[in-house]
Amino acid sequence: MSLPLDFRCHVVEKSPDGGFSGALAERAITDLPAGEVTVRVGWSSLNYKDALAATGHPGITRTFPHVPGIDAAGVVAESTASEFPVGTEVIATGHELGVERWGGWAEFIRVPAAWLVKRPAGLTLEEAMTIGTAGFTAAQSVLALIHAGVTPERGPILVTGATGGVGSLAVQILARLGYEVTAVSGKPDRADWLREIGAKAVLDREAFLAVPARPLLSANWAGGVDTVGGTVLATLLRGVQHRGCVAACGVVGGAELPLTVYPFILRGVTLAGIDSAWCPADRRAAIWNRLASDWKPPHLAAGKTVISLDQVTPAVEQILKGSHIGRTVIRM
Ligand code: NDP
Repeated sequence: MSLPLDFRCHVVEKSPDGGFSGALAERAITDLPAGEVTVRVGWSSLNYKDALAATGHPGITRTFPHVPGIDAAGVVAESTASEFPVGTEVIATGHELGVERWGGWAEFIRVPAAWLVKRPAGLTLEEAMTIGTAGFTAAQSVLALIHAGVTPERGPILVTGATGGVGSLAVQILARLGYEVTAVSGKPDRADWLREIGAKAVLDREAFLAVPARPLLSANWAGGVDTVGGTVLATLLRGVQHRGCVAACGVVGGAELPLTVYPFILRGVTLAGIDSAWCPADRRAAIWNRLASDWKPPHLAAGKTVISLDQVTPAVEQILKGSHIGRTVIRM
């Protein structure tokens, strides 16, 4: 497969006054960084981190022009890595993709072979991107609960930011594995949708937060998957049962954790941190295999919006306002 001279991508530029703007552009294929494998991207996706990258957040990248996209799925177009010959269908998520290296909001990416996973048999490339980093993070969170001994018989699991990418896929995976899921959401009009994808109960975010200022609350939850951070995560941890576990990945509601140590030292609660970008390769491949088989989220189509590369800007605005629902995938 020969490479074209130019490719289309969404480029974020920094203007002299310090502002940022992003637009569809053409770049020379020689602008791609050096690397072992060049992939013709068929699908990418939109994650919260991409929205930050697309608006120039300094915590994501300081090098511009930049191409966001922490997720990409496609076909190997050029390769010096024997394990990924031309024509292999691959998934790339995390590492420095869309962060320090130009990412998946492009017709081509070039990456180290170690960043790639072969498409598992049970997923199409489109399904792989509907799952994307969000579903990979949700699956890692569920794995953390299992490793902490939180089985379905132990009681309900609370999922926060439940209509978002990570949250909605966590609801689906947990429900598929037999857990009773309570979803916390700031979107009361989406309660029926959350029940359709697997939640047994739905709590309004404000009602969930309207609790006494005690260090410990009634121990309602066997565990939790938190995508929000801040007061939401602290409130969840204060209400977890003895020896329960909360997997925390997110920061949309704040980076502070206003909490005492009592959930940990009186109830033995575990706070499991989830990092998807640098998940070790063997665990990464194992998780993708589960996501393609017995953990495959059962309502992928119900939570999916397909957009094209020239439609990412309004989707970015939506995610930054907190009004994003499910998963947005980008068809190249
Ligand atoms: P989404 O925007 O799709 O979902 C976030 C959801 O959180 C929203 O839909 C909303 O759900 C809720 N929310 C939004 N704003 C607020 C707020 N101010 N206070 C409380 N809740 C809010 O994002 P993603 O699912 O892609 O990512 C979620 C989080 O997980 C992000 O912080 C992201 O950075 C993090 N993440 C971390 C990873 C890791 O490796 N650690 C990997 C992937 C994601 P609702 O209205 O239903 O409450």
